[in-house]
Order: sequence, then structure tokens, then C-alpha cells
Amino acid sequence: MSARDTSPSFRTTTTTSPKRRNAAHPSTMPSPSCCNTSAADLSLNIVVVGGNIAGLATAYALKKAGHKVLILEKSNGMARCPGSVRSTPNMTKILDRWGLGPALVKCAHKCEKIVFRTGKTGDLVAAMILNEEFMHDIAADFFLLQHHDLYTMLYELAQEVGVEFRFECSVTSVDSTSVSVTVESGERLFCDVIVGADGYKSIVRPIVTGELNNPQASNSDSGELNLSFIVPASKMKQHEDLRPFANMKMGDWTSWMGDGYILHGGFSGEGRDFTATMVYKFHNNSIYRAKGHENDQSPLARYSIDLQKFEPKTRKLLSLGQLVFSRVYRPDTGPENVVCEESRVTLVGDAAHPLMPVGNINAATGIEDAQTLGCLFSRLKTRSQISQLLNAYEDIRQPRSRFVQDADRGQHDLLSLPSGPMQEQRNAILRSAMVDEEKGGHMDEVIFREVWGKEIAIYSYDATEQVDDWWTKWGSMLVRGSTNGASHSTNVEVSISRAGW
Ligand SMILES: Cc1cc2nc3c(=O)[nH]c(=O)nc-3n(C[C@H](O)[C@H](O)[C@H](O)COP(=O)(O)OP(=O)(O)OC[C@H]3O[C@@H](n4cnc5c(N)ncnc54)[C@H](O)[C@@H]3O)c2cc1C
Repeated sequence: MSARDTSPSFRTTTTTSPKRRNAAHPSTMPSPSCCNTSAADLSLNIVVVGGNIAGLATAYALKKAGHKVLILEKSNGMARCPGSVRSTPNMTKILDRWGLGPALVKCAHKCEKIVFRTGKTGDLVAAMILNEEFMHDIAADFFLLQHHDLYTMLYELAQEVGVEFRFECSVTSVDSTSVSVTVESGERLFCDVIVGADGYKSIVRPIVTGELNNPQASNSDSGELNLSFIVPASKMKQHEDLRPFANMKMGDWTSWMGDGYILHGGFSGEGRDFTATMVYKFHNNSIYRAKGHENDQSPLARYSIDLQKFEPKTRKLLSLGQLVFSRVYRPDTGPENVVCEESRVTLVGDAAHPLMPVGNINAATGIEDAQTLGCLFSRLKTRSQISQLLNAYEDIRQPRSRFVQDADRGQHDLLSLPSGPMQEQRNAILRSAMVDEEKGGHMDEVIFREVWGKEIAIYSYDATEQVDDWWTKWGSMLVRGSTNGASHSTNVEVSISRAGW
């Protein structure tokens, strides 16, 4: 390995030193026992805009890869969402590599069963049993955990390796030519690479795409309302008809498949609260257009939800719940490119692929982005490779993100079919692919794979292996190109999607 580049830390136009934040989080995490990446020969200065799940994960992976990383986060970093989040097997694999396996086991619950019911009547359709035999090929577990526990784990991990943080620091503009960000105070920070991890309404995304493509600006009258609730278990237990749900095993969850909606719920954390999320389709409804903002915690009655489409038990459950997160989402395929023209600004998480919020796979997709960037940038040897590695990131991530988005949308459409023959046909297929929970039995693996093939492909994905495969195919060309004295815009064509560098 060549000597490490000791480039100066972030250059700014003022002399203000970064505001360090006190670690006020409860420690849930043992020290990481392993990590997949070795450090790069050349250390870059990287600014990550946004410090939630994708930003923290990316900052950790890039710091571990040998770079200096600064997170700029507009919130104070202390707000915690009481909702739950799923660590799907593809995400669990990465967290395990980052040494978070023991922390996951400590604060998350393994999901062993997903029960599907009809939304209108509550009738049982089928159950998916995620036992060891079944999960064998997928090679990692499904967990349900509190969103704030995941945040805390990633925050502590990033802090431990030396990621720098500035909270209450809102980025107001990004310049891809000078590779700089300007923050609210007017201060401008220069760096080598900017990563936009600033979520669904990303301000970095237009710099990458060159278009003002904020999905919230859409004039469409239809879309989806995403709501997350918590219902205290103690309240549920006071109602005889809700006791079966109050007694659900931790980690397992139930999905009610309604006419134009899906409602999922289960227990995570210490089991004090049942957490539920709903995706509800709307058409021509001006109330959502007028709201158009997120994190509105109004009473459910303020939303025009047709409660007649819900079985009486879920109606009661909703009436007992407290809304903790809401977002109006308009289906969006996301940007075509996730790397800017100058190859210095890129996107991760919801900024890169605006999936339906509070879905199964959102956090996992952002963590895959992080691991991909980290693994690629741990191989950096020369400055000329920055653009090549960013374009490699795009080549690896874009097809995967598209696949995940399509599968997510397809599953959502299937599970929220309107009442009628198509819904009945879907239920018959689900019954044939899974088990009748009351009668027991085994799932038919062949039929199951036919029905859930895309989900299996999503969960089996290994982000680390994908980079290794890419490197095996193209890495030697990239190294050769750089050591042959190629400059900033080398012509070694290792990108499949982009010509000209
Ligand atoms: C408050 C909240 C609660 C959520 N709860 C759940 C949940 O319970 N279950 C679940 O599955 N998913 C939940 N999600 C969604 C899920 O966490 C994300 O979809 C997924 O993890 C991808 O995260 P992200 O980091 O890409 O985006 P986000 O979670 O949207 O994070 C973006 C971050 O960027 C920051 N930011 C934005 N603009 C700027 C700027 N200009 N300058 C500096 N910082 C900026 C934001 O403050 C935010 O911290 C929640 C999201 C939010 C914001």
C-alpha cells in the first residue's frame, strides 16, 4: 500500500469550528467485532447532507473506508420517532458485518410469522412462517425494531469511528463544480465528495439530476397517505376483541389487506406499544394536496379515510392509536442518475430512490447504498478514481433500486386490490402459497417462490458481494487506468451506463 494522503480537513470560508455534540444516547451497542472494509490509500474529505438512517450508515461506511466524514443535519438529532422499522435479511447481513449483530439481538425481535387478513372482514387469509428451514437460503434474519434503536445504533457506530457531526445545520445550497455546500449561516464548506442523504424532499437531488424534480411539487391528485400509529398495549388489553392482537408474539406482525389500503402492525421494543403503519390510496382529494407536509400528527379524523373499509377491530385499534408519523407520497420512480455530471455529488437513501415511506425495505435500501459506497471507496488509490468509483456506485445501485421500487410497488398494488373477483383470486393464490395458521402445515416452497420470488431476490441480496463481483470484473481496468497516469477524467470505460470517462 502506498503512503496515505493527508489532505487538509474540510476547507470553509469562515473559521467557525464544527459544533461537536454531546453523546447523550443510551449505549445499546457493543464495540463492532468485525468490518468488511479495509482503509483506502487516499483519504478524502466527504460531506454527508442529512444524518438519519441512510446518512449515518453512509458516514460510518465511508469513515471506516478511510475517509474524513462530516454529517450536516438540520435537526438537533434528538427527535425520536416511536414507530418501528424492519431489518429485512439484506439489511441484517450488513448490520452483522458492521458488528451490530449482538445489538440487534438485544433490542430487536426476530419476526417468525406474518399473518395476512382481509381488511374489510378481518378473515384470516394465510400466514407466512419464517422458520430456520425456510430462511436458510436467505442467510439472515428478519427483525422488527424501534426506529430510534436503529438510529441510536448507527449514531453510536458513526461516532465511535470518528465521524464528525454538525446538528441544527441546514444545507441551503450545493455546488457540484466547486464541490461545496453552503449552510444556513452562510458558511461554505469545500470537500472532495458530497453525499445527499437528505431524504424524500432532497435539496441535493436536483443538483445531481439537473432538474427540479421534487415529487411533492407534483400536481397529481392521486397518491398515498402514509400513517404510523402507536397503540399502548395496556389500552388494547381493556378490549376483549383486541386481546388476540395484544397477545401477538413480539416481532411477528399482521397485515390487513384492504380495498385501497394496507395496514401492518406488531410489537417491537419492550412491547409496551403496538406499532402500526398504513398506506392509504387517495384520488382527487384536495385535503391531501392542501396539507402536502409531513410529520403532521393530527387526529385520524382529520384525514378523509373511509373507515367503512376497515373491519370493526381495526377501526377500534385506530381509534385508540396516536399518530406519530405521516407523509403524503406521490409515486415517483426516482432520478435516472444518482451521480452528478461532474462526478462529485451523489445520493443515498430516500433521496436516491423515493420508496413509499415506512415500507418494508426503505431503511434496508439506504443501508445497502451505504455499504456499496463504503466498499467501493475503501479501494480508492488516486484522485482520478473518484469519478470512476462514483459511477461504479451508480452502475451497481441503479438497477437494484429500480428492481426494489418495482417490487415494492407491485406488492403494494397486489395487497391493496379493491374488493371483488381480483381480490378473491389473490387471496386464493396467497392461501396456496402459505399456510392456514389455524390448521398449521408447511408452506409449499415452489408455489411460495412463484408468488414471492421478487421479495426473495430482495432479501437474498448481498451488497458486499455485489461490489466484490463488480471489482473482479472491472477493478483491474480501473487500477490500470489510474496508475497509467490518467487524470481526473480518465477514459477507462468501466461504467456500463455512462460513456466518456
Ligand atoms: C421523522 C421520521 C420518522 C420515520 N419513522 C419511520 C418508521 O417508524 N418506520 C420506518 O420504516 N421508516 C420510518 N421513517 C422513514 C425511514 O427512516 C426512511 O425512509 C429510510 O430510513 C431512509 O432514510 P433517509 O435517511 O434516506 O431519509 P430521512 O429519514 O428522510 O432522513 C433525511 C435526513 O436529512 C435531513 N435533512 C433534510 N434536508 C436537509 C438539509 N437541507 N440540510 C441538512 N439536513 C437535512 C433530515 O432532517 C433527516 O434527518 C421515518 C422517517 C422520518 C424522517
